[in-house]
Amino acid sequence: MRGNYSRSPRAILILLVSSALVALVTWFAPGLSAASLNLLFRLRGPLPAPTDVTIVAIDDESLRRIGQWPWPRSVIADALDRLTEAGAGGVGLDIIYAEPTNAEEDQRLAASIARSGRVVLPAQLYETFSANSAPAINWLRPLPAIARAARALGHAHVAPGVDGMARSVQLSKADDRGDRLWAFGMEVVRVAEGIGDADLEERAGLLRFGGHRVPVLDEEVRDSIPGVLFVRPNETIINYAGPTRSFAHYSMADLLEGKIPSAALAGRIVLIGATAPSLGDTRVAPFMHFSAGGEQGGQEMPGVEIHANLIHTIRGRLSLRSLPEEGAFLLAIVVILCAMLTVRWLDGWRQVGLLALLLLAILAGSFLAFSRYHIIPPLVPMLTGFGVVVPLLLNRALAASRELDRKLAALVSSQQGFLTSAEGEDVSRQPSSALELPRSLAWKLRAVDDLTTRLVARMSFIDRILSSMGEGVLVSDLTGRILFANQEAMRIFGCRESDVIGAWFDQFLIERGRLEPTAARDAIGGALSGRVAQLEFEVALAEPQYYSLLLSALVAQPDTAIGVVALISDISRRVEMDRLKTETLQLVSHELRTPLTSIRGLSDVLLKFPVAEEQSREMIDTIHAESVRLGEMLNRYLDLTRLESGAQALQLAPVPCGRLIDDCIHNLSVPAAERRIRLHAEVPPTIPPLQADGLLLRQAVSNLLGNAIKYSPPDTDVTIAAELQSGAVAIHVRDQGFGVPPEARDKIFQKFYRLERDASSPVVGAGLGLPLVKEIAERHGGRVTLQNGPAGGSIFTLYLPLSV
Ligand code: ADP
Repeated sequence: MRGNYSRSPRAILILLVSSALVALVTWFAPGLSAASLNLLFRLRGPLPAPTDVTIVAIDDESLRRIGQWPWPRSVIADALDRLTEAGAGGVGLDIIYAEPTNAEEDQRLAASIARSGRVVLPAQLYETFSANSAPAINWLRPLPAIARAARALGHAHVAPGVDGMARSVQLSKADDRGDRLWAFGMEVVRVAEGIGDADLEERAGLLRFGGHRVPVLDEEVRDSIPGVLFVRPNETIINYAGPTRSFAHYSMADLLEGKIPSAALAGRIVLIGATAPSLGDTRVAPFMHFSAGGEQGGQEMPGVEIHANLIHTIRGRLSLRSLPEEGAFLLAIVVILCAMLTVRWLDGWRQVGLLALLLLAILAGSFLAFSRYHIIPPLVPMLTGFGVVVPLLLNRALAASRELDRKLAALVSSQQGFLTSAEGEDVSRQPSSALELPRSLAWKLRAVDDLTTRLVARMSFIDRILSSMGEGVLVSDLTGRILFANQEAMRIFGCRESDVIGAWFDQFLIERGRLEPTAARDAIGGALSGRVAQLEFEVALAEPQYYSLLLSALVAQPDTAIGVVALISDISRRVEMDRLKTETLQLVSHELRTPLTSIRGLSDVLLKFPVAEEQSREMIDTIHAESVRLGEMLNRYLDLTRLESGAQALQLAPVPCGRLIDDCIHNLSVPAAERRIRLHAEVPPTIPPLQADGLLLRQAVSNLLGNAIKYSPPDTDVTIAAELQSGAVAIHVRDQGFGVPPEARDKIFQKFYRLERDASSPVVGAGLGLPLVKEIAERHGGRVTLQNGPAGGSIFTLYLPLSV
């Protein structure tokens, strides 16, 4: 708002100055207006060839054939007679017969004029000087006898304008005594059309006679050049039909010799006048141009043709009108306002386009007004008004340029100290005052170049940091859309840039990170209000990965959050360590403590009390069995941990399946026999050897077989069968034992898990056998499954690919 207020006085000033300029140019350089009118005439071109006026010319050809000027008056009398014969509608004889020659010749001419009855003769004002009185202006008229014979006298003055061009004619002129004559051309029209004085009326700005309405300029002062004043009342502007020789044109000699077709004369207005350059009656007219090629229009226009043009203008209703000065000024103001608004409100191609349209509208409108409506447009005031655009544009360009300098400097100084600055001048220096001229375009380009280089370097530096970070980074805006994700973040969530950019932040975390919706939304809300929030989530891949999510506000200025930044770090190792710690704690606190307690209790009794031989033997057996169990448990746990940690490499070698199974059965034959379990092996000889770690594989199969023995009632069968199943060897261990309830199927492969049934039974176990089997199978690229046996019991199957 303030900007607008401060700008309006300047706008008013520009308006005032430009209006003053318009007035100055229009009043003090009338030549420009005259030139613009010429331009309009040329642009419009000639009117359709006029047919109502015929010129009989006293031209070079006539002078050659009839003789030197002046001719005897009988020659013109003959010519008039021929015109009378041909039935000319009106005759304008543009020669002043003011001085007598011989009476016979004068008589002869007067008679011919009288015979015609339609002849108009010219008169001219001239100044007489005498020694004792002021100069007087009087009419120079034809001889009284000739003048009386004529139907009318008209003044034949054609006064040039400021640029020496005959553009207008005064419709009436008077001498010092107030004796007034109408213009020669006008009188010819009146005679030809029989319009008497009664049918003539003078109004403000208009002269009406018969059906003709001729606009007249009422202003006393029309043109002025410094020091010279043109006073020409009652003037009308001629609408020239074209350049010299636009009218039907015949030589006087041809008329006298009867060579002019009577169709060219009958009913027409005929003007007789001098056109030979040697007779000197010529004026400069608007269509005239001086071109090297001597094209049409290169000649001055004879006076008689100017009268013809006036007649044509009157009869063809072609009179030109110019706008009143206030109207012209108003139009110029409109143009100035349009130009100012365009420069003020538009930019770039729109501005150029609209200015071009404005110019086009001025030119096309002017042309149309002139050619179609015979109005002389105020082209010069309008173009001067349009010219205001130039300083306006310059002013705007300078202001924009200075503003650009300021912004560049501010931008450069905001980057300072971060990266090394470019060599050379100090770009960050602010312009010292509003009057200081803006810097050059080359300077600006250099500064932008320098800045771009620095910004690009800085951006790629930040980009490198973000992409080489071990942590994932996600940034969302205030609306909750994700704006940025670094490479690590996309890797963590297993997605591409197109999946993440633009996604809703909370939705993304809930879906991809499987976060609890309220927790996720609370954390984002908390971060926006300035509280750092931390969440943990798991991405379920082949190996589950654990991450921590640290959410904090993205701040633009202190206390203004513009988004949320999430830092995602991999905490899988820490989670694994925690798990190990828990496991170890479980092992020590529970699994190891029970046997240890019994060992300590029994050994205490043995040490402190006398115990009978047989009893002590029993106690020592128990102590031994418990310590063996303790040792085995520790070994299994360590085996498992070693395998899980990847510290133990597989010793791969071909392992024949039959041998492996036989060995296991053999090793477990004693406990089987103790529990009266019958062991069977079903291994077809076609089974190829497995590429595996023999020791580990034996451990796995022995565990399954051992469990089958342990968890089966006496007098049952346990079968180990091997078969080929789509590129893998399946080893089934079937028992007829107690089975595993469906809800515990998955759990029995977890560490330390034992069925309630077995944990409280005397069957020894630590819940580490099946996890070890599972780990061994997976290390070999295989798996272990559990199914119900057809007649109760369980079937554990170990699938091992033929090649690892
Ligand atoms: P344990 O040392 O207790 O045998 P395992 O990991 O080998 O540990 O077995 C886990 C639990 O699974 C056992 O305690 C038992 O409850 C159950 N189990 C394992 N094998 C069988 C089976 N063949 N029949 C019934 N239950 C079984």
